[in-house]
Amino acid sequence: MLEIIENEKESNRKKPPKHIADFDLKERKKFAEELGLPGFRADQVSRHWFGQLSDNFDEWTDLPAGERQKIAELLTPKLINELKVQKADGGNTVKTLWKLHDGLLIESVLMHYPNRTTICISSQAGCGMGCPFCATGQGGLKRNLSTAEIVAQVQAGARYAAQGLLPEGPTRLSNIVFMGMGEPMANFNAVVGTIHRIHDESPAGLGISARNITVSTVGLVPRINDLAALGLPVRLAVSLHAPTDELRDTLVPINERYPIKQVLDASWKYAETSGRRVSIEYAMIKSMNDQVIHAKQLANLLRGKDVHVNLIPLNPTPGSKWTASEPEDEKTFVEILEQSDIAVTVRDTRGREIDGACGQLAASEV
Ligand code: SAH
Ligand code: SF4
Repeated sequence: MLEIIENEKESNRKKPPKHIADFDLKERKKFAEELGLPGFRADQVSRHWFGQLSDNFDEWTDLPAGERQKIAELLTPKLINELKVQKADGGNTVKTLWKLHDGLLIESVLMHYPNRTTICISSQAGCGMGCPFCATGQGGLKRNLSTAEIVAQVQAGARYAAQGLLPEGPTRLSNIVFMGMGEPMANFNAVVGTIHRIHDESPAGLGISARNITVSTVGLVPRINDLAALGLPVRLAVSLHAPTDELRDTLVPINERYPIKQVLDASWKYAETSGRRVSIEYAMIKSMNDQVIHAKQLANLLRGKDVHVNLIPLNPTPGSKWTASEPEDEKTFVEILEQSDIAVTVRDTRGREIDGACGQLAASEV
């Protein structure tokens, strides 16, 4: 497991082409100049790509017509290519399978609700954390995504919403969750870059509040501390899934390195520094972690803390020996937490028929 984390460099082997979304505004100017373009082209292109959400250079009419294509290819190479789009919930859930420059596949899911539009994005191709109930975990880590490869998923979702392709018509992308493929904290620098691009004002970024960004982690303690040190009000979600180390070791193998106490201590510190309530994610697996004893143990860990528990009914992966909890067990579990004054919700199972529920991005095509 140690190797998996420290192999971050190794997993960056096949680097994708650079793109303006890899850089802040100042670096972008230098990037353009290094490519033999006038520095101000970076600013012009940023206004189209981030400001107007346009990736169609025909619309970039303030650039000389004969040079538009070349400039677009140099500054905004196409990093994610749409391979397949699947819709559910009457078009309110849209899962896109993207092909990267080296043929690897990733997915993102756009979900429209009455009061918000959320995109669930991937931070890695595959994942090295090996959680046995997770589809992404089964295939191991292929490589880290670059900042621009992650930002491009967000930009594409924002464009889809803005163009009125969701049933309700044109809407603004409001929320971003790092709950797709991969462990965001194992690709920390690219994820931090992405957070900046998301929340910086146009043309530097997309101008979406950092408060509306959720980073979900399996619990890489040093990186939770690093995220706190950034001082951004990003929401942290911690995938706990079990109330004892003995059980968590089997569901979340990295627990052997960062046991529950360390993960929760870092989480409470994060809540204090960021001023944001931490979410605890807990996949409800029948007879495994969903009994009265588990609920009581969990309540003992969380009582009195600034926390919100998100129960996720297990979405079984093909061939899985596990299945989702019985409704009665789920209900009892919720009641026990509520009796301890712990805020708890059961996550809705959006897009299950297309394996589009967050954290359950299908490995079927990969
Ligand atoms: N790697 C990060 C983020 C991606 S997974 C993490 O683990 O937190 C997002 C969430 O979906 C995590 O809580 C994860 O444990 C959960 N998840 C993964 N596979 C699932 C499945 N088959 N059913 C329900 N939840 C699942
Ligand atoms: Fe990776 Fe998260 Fe899946 Fe675990 S649950 S294998 S950390 S994506």
